Amino acid sequence: MKTQYEPAAFSDMNEPGGRLVVYCKDCRHNALLDPDTLKIPGERPIPSMTGLFKCSNAKAKTLQPNRDM
Ligand SMILES: [Zn+2]
Repeated sequence: MKTQYEPAAFSDMNEPGGRLVVYCKDCRHNALLDPDTLKIPGERPIPSMTGLFKCSNAKAKTLQPNRDM
């Protein structure tokens, strides 16, 4: 069963202790980013941030941002 998917906004992660984790689809490299250091508007949907980050391993722009749970 599929639930309605509502894209999270960047501000959803920008809470105390909130971390943004990005996964590389190519090499599965992942990194934790501090949302405070990123100059990204809070209303920006997370899915639109795909391609914004560069993998230091694969040099590919295939990083998929996710909320760190
Ligand atoms: Zn990679």
